[in-house]
Formats: sequence, structure tokens, C-alpha cells
Amino acid sequence: MSFSDADLARKLEALLGPEAVLSGSAAGRAYDCDSYTVEKNNPAAVVLPRTTEEVAKVVRWCYQNNVPFTARGAGTGLSGGALPAMGGVIISTKKMAKILDIDLPNRCLLAQTGIANKKISDAVKEKGLYFAPDPSSQSVSTIGGNIGENSGGPHTLKYGVTVQHILGITMVDPTGEILKLGGKIEGAPGYDFIGLIVGSEGTLGIVTEAWVKLNVLPKTVSTALIAYRTIADATKTVADIIAQGTIPAALEMMDRGILRAVNMAFGFEYPANTEAMLLIECDGEPDQVAREMEAVQQVCQRNKAIEIRVAEDEVERARLWVVRKKGIGAMGRIAPSIVTHDGVIPRSKLPEMLEFVYDVSFRYSIGVANIFHAGDGNLHPCFYFNDRDPNQVQRVVEAGEEIIRRCIELGGSVSGEHGIGVEKIDLMPLMFSPADLELQALSKRIFNDGMLCNPCKVLPNQKGCVEYKKHWKGAAC
Ligand SMILES: Cc1cc2nc3c(=O)[nH]c(=O)nc-3n(C[C@H](O)[C@H](O)[C@H](O)COP(=O)(O)OP(=O)(O)OC[C@H]3O[C@@H](n4cnc5c(N)ncnc54)[C@H](O)[C@@H]3O)c2cc1C
Repeated sequence: MSFSDADLARKLEALLGPEAVLSGSAAGRAYDCDSYTVEKNNPAAVVLPRTTEEVAKVVRWCYQNNVPFTARGAGTGLSGGALPAMGGVIISTKKMAKILDIDLPNRCLLAQTGIANKKISDAVKEKGLYFAPDPSSQSVSTIGGNIGENSGGPHTLKYGVTVQHILGITMVDPTGEILKLGGKIEGAPGYDFIGLIVGSEGTLGIVTEAWVKLNVLPKTVSTALIAYRTIADATKTVADIIAQGTIPAALEMMDRGILRAVNMAFGFEYPANTEAMLLIECDGEPDQVAREMEAVQQVCQRNKAIEIRVAEDEVERARLWVVRKKGIGAMGRIAPSIVTHDGVIPRSKLPEMLEFVYDVSFRYSIGVANIFHAGDGNLHPCFYFNDRDPNQVQRVVEAGEEIIRRCIELGGSVSGEHGIGVEKIDLMPLMFSPADLELQALSKRIFNDGMLCNPCKVLPNQKGCVEYKKHWKGAAC
């Protein structure tokens, strides 16, 4: 069945009430992409449900009327996951941001998935607890989006990614049925459907509520910012720290491009001739943290660190983190558009890979700055450019593809944490065999009746997305 945008909006208003529906081109444009701004497409309408039942009503209606739909949290995704590739309806979780239950004895919390990640930690801080996954976008990005992308963060090195912290979910499947998977306990027997849903980028249904695990806040945290004259000294430090057996809570790297941007935006100062900085954090029992920090500093000194700043108190610790947490935002002052790429390589290949990234930037004449989870080998080259210039956009896309191809050649991965979305859909066959991709497509069919639930994402060769791909990529699937 096909509807005009106005008809579609009226039908949705009849389901949820007029206050829960946005329509018209202005509303459409506000939801035409996520933070990957290279590809855009207007939805026909946006709905803002408040409950699981309301989400189910909308999905059921879309399913019965052959209308595509896409879940959206805060829209901070960096691979086009929340882009309404085939138009249709955006289902926003903006009004589903309630904490529903806090179970302190079992150290878990139930929330609607539109809640911002950091709000969970804020809610239980006084009880000495927190939610460990900490994407740098955590003040706005939602638990639903974190589940969609299986997000990581600076502390992933020690505490793992989102999937390790989700115990149970309520979701609406692509036909509008409500499913409850998992619960409050870990490690239940049987097939791991939560593991399948987390990281599926909203292609298997819409997660409406989640039981998340709460960790105990560490007793002591020590943070250091270390400056280096060469990229090679910094990257060698990273590999040496892990090789000697220390696993810091965070081991992050920023290059000169990021440092310059943070200096311009926040007045952050660093020694002259600094080419790279590492932010290293250790946490746990006081004795253990003191031992680890001592060992870490020795490795930094052996690798010719030119300055080591260890935070003396919480205020200074927060100041040191500014360079990491605000680095990507600060890049916004340098250029109108940024594409932050995401690939993984074995840590030992960091020096070689960074050289390659700078070479790609030079060959494509596109500026690059690097800020990334060095301890995990998870690179984030940020290309800065003007997305109103189609030639620059094309060069950014090609440069990104070269980098990802290289990551895979070096034994790494097509994505670390930003997902596949539309950005990397054509690169999946570089990493997965045809048999592997077919198994993934079969798994999708368990949940997905048809091609309506966030179409044209993650898996290549989806029938029905040909027009979309021709338009954006100039290729048929
Ligand atoms: C400045 C900045 C820093 C960032 N830092 C990090 C970082 O450190 N680590 C990291 O991993 N990522 C990072 N990101 C990427 C992004 O913030 C994460 O991917 C985040 O989890 C997306 O959350 P969101 O609410 O914005 O989701 P959206 O962008 O709205 O959606 C992301 C995906 O999840 C799906 N989705 C959304 N809600 C649901 C739901 N309820 N059920 C099912 N699927 C759903 C969407 O369809 C889409 O495919 C960063 C982004 C920015 C802009």
C-alpha cells in the first residue's frame, strides 16, 4: 500500500495522537541523517511513542501497510544507522527515557531505551554504582543506540562493550509482536539472542526496555596525560604497556591535529613539538593502582615521553579528560564537516597504520586528525572537509575505504564500535565469507518478516535496496 506523506502522518496521528507525530519537510530534514552526514534521506513522518505498547502499535501498522521504519535514539551514530534509507517512519525513542526499576541487591537497573547513557550512572552514583560502557557521546547517546551499535568507549579496554552489560531486553519485533529476552541474571543456557540483538543496528526490531548491569565504582582512579615528540614513541608505549601485562582502565591517543583543535576551543596547553599524547587511566584498589601507575610511567619514560602529567585531584582529572572527551567536538571549529572513521587493527600494527592514515590524507588532499582507543587498536581517523563540495565528499569516502581495506589486510576489522550502517555495507564482503554473510542473513530472517525494519543496513545484497544504492553509491546490489 502506498500513502502520500500527509496521509501517512494522519494514519499515525490516529494511532498515537497528533502530539506524537511530526511531519512536513522541516520535520523530515531534522531526521534525514545521523552524525554521518554524507548520506541523507527524508522520512515521511516521525513518531514519538511513550511506551512499548505504542511502539508495537506503530510497527504493527507499518508491517500491515508495507511501510519501512527505522529506530532512532539521539542520532549520534557515525555510520548512518538511523538514516531512513527508504523513507517511511522514524520511530524516535526521545519520549521513552524513564528509569523503571533499580534493583540494588542484584546490581541492575531497568530503563526505557531512550534514556541517555550517562543518566543511568548519575541515578546510581550515590549508591556507589555506575553503568560501565562510556561512549564519548554518553551525555546524549541513548541506551537503545548503544545497544544498536554495541557501543564501546575509553574504558572498554578493561570493562568490555555494551553487550557485556545488558542482561535482558523488551523489544518489538518487525511484525509488531512484543518479545522479552533474558532477565536479571547472566549466562542463561540456550542460544544467546541478546548477543544477536545487541549490535544489530535496529535491523531485528526495536528495543524498548533494558535491564542493565551496574558496576561498583572503583575505590581509586589515577589519570595521566603523557606527551611524545613522535607518533612512533607513543604507539610503541601502547604495545609495551599491554605486553608487560598491565591492563589500564583506559589507554587513549590523540595526535597533533586534535591537540591543536582542543587548544583553540578550550585553551588546553601542551609542550611545544608534541606530536601525540596518551591518556592513561588505572583504577581499582589503592595499592594496585599505585603499582600499575608506577609500571606505566616507567614504560612511558623508556619510550622517550617528554612530559607526564598525573592528575592530583578530581578537578585536574576532569581537565585532563577534556582533551579526549571534547576532542571530536573541538574539530567542529576547524571545518564544517567531519567524518570519523572506525576500524580495528592489532595493537602492534599501530605505528605502520598511522603512517598509512597520514599518507592517505596527503594523497586525497583531505585533512585528518586522530583520536582513538589505542589500547584496543580501535582507530578513529577524523577527516575534516566541506560536505557541500561533492568532490571533497567523494574523496573522503574513497580515503575511508582505503583505510578500512588496510585494517583488514593487517588482520583487523571493518568496524570497532561505530557499526556498518550504510557507510560500510559494501565493505562487509572484505571481512566475511559468502557463507558467513548468508548465515547472518538467515539469522536476520528469524526476526525480520520482509524488508521493512531499518532496510539497507549492515548486510549487503539486500533486495529492495537497489534504488537506494544506485542513488548514493552508483552501484546496484
Ligand atoms: C562526538 C561523538 C563521540 C562518539 N564516541 C563514541 C565512542 O566513544 N564509542 C562508540 O561506540 N560510539 C561513539 N560515538 C557513536 C555514537 O554515539 C554511538 O554509536 C551511540 O551508541 C549511538 O547512540 P544514539 O542514541 O545516538 O543512536 P542513533 O544514532 O539514534 O542510532 C544508532 C543505531 O541504533 C539503532 N537504534 C537506536 N535506538 C534503538 C532501539 N531502541 N532499538 C533498536 N535499535 C535502535 C538505530 O536504528 C541505528 O541503527 C560517538 C559519536 C559522536 C557524535
